[in-house]
Amino acid sequence: MSDLTEKIKAFLTWYRDLYGDTAYMEQAAAPSSKAKQESPMPSHHSPLLQFYLEIKDCKKCALGKTRTNFVFGVGNEQADVMFVGEAPGRDEDLKGEPFVGRAGQLLNKLLSHIHLKRSDVYIANILKCRPPNNRDPLPEEVVQCIPYLKTQIEMIQPKLLVALGRVAAQNLLNTKMALGKMRERMWEYQGIPLLVTYHPAAILRNNNLLTEALADFKKIKQWVEEHS
Ligand code: URA
Repeated sequence: MSDLTEKIKAFLTWYRDLYGDTAYMEQAAAPSSKAKQESPMPSHHSPLLQFYLEIKDCKKCALGKTRTNFVFGVGNEQADVMFVGEAPGRDEDLKGEPFVGRAGQLLNKLLSHIHLKRSDVYIANILKCRPPNNRDPLPEEVVQCIPYLKTQIEMIQPKLLVALGRVAAQNLLNTKMALGKMRERMWEYQGIPLLVTYHPAAILRNNNLLTEALADFKKIKQWVEEHS
C-alpha cells in the first residue's frame, strides 16, 4: 500500500475516532469564524468572471434568501477534469468555495493520491447555494440552478467530468439509478465522458468505500493520461 493510501486511511481513522462511524454531518464542522468571507472569484480575464458577475446575486429560488455566499466554483478554468458535487455545506456557504470542509479535505487527499492538486482541476456543485440543514436539493432548485453549471461546463470544456455522489450523478444524468450501478460504467454529459464515484462525505461515513474510491481515482488518472 502506498504512503498516501496509508495517510488517507490514517485521516479516516482519525476522523472516525473523533466523530464515530455514523455521526458525520457537514454542518457539524466548526469553522474558526462565522463571519462572511469573500468568495474566490474567477481569474481577472476569464469569460467565467463575466458569467460569475452575471449570476452571483441569483434569487431564482428560495436558497438565495438564506445563503451567506453564492458558491460559484473554483479551480483551473482550463482543467482537463471537472468535479461536480451536490451543494455547498456550512463551511462552503461561509467561505464561498466548494469542498472546503472535511469532505473537501478528503477530496484533496484523493486528488493527491493521483498527483493532482485542487488548482489542477475545476470543482463546482449542482447547486450554488446551501440548502438549509444540508437537505437534498429540491427538484425546483435543481431546475433553476443546473443551467449555471451547464454553462460553466461549456466554458471550461473539460475532457472528463466526475460526479461526486448520487445527487450529482442522478441530476447530471437525469436518472434515478443507484450509485453502485452508475459506478459500473462510463457515461456522457453533453458529449463529455463522465465517471461516477462516491461523495467524499459518504467515504467519511463508511471507510470501507475508500478502496473503491481509490480505484475510481486511479481510473481518472489513467483516463487523463490516455487522453492528453
Ligand atoms: N458537499 C458537496 O457536495 N459540495 C460541497 O461543496 C461541499 C460538500
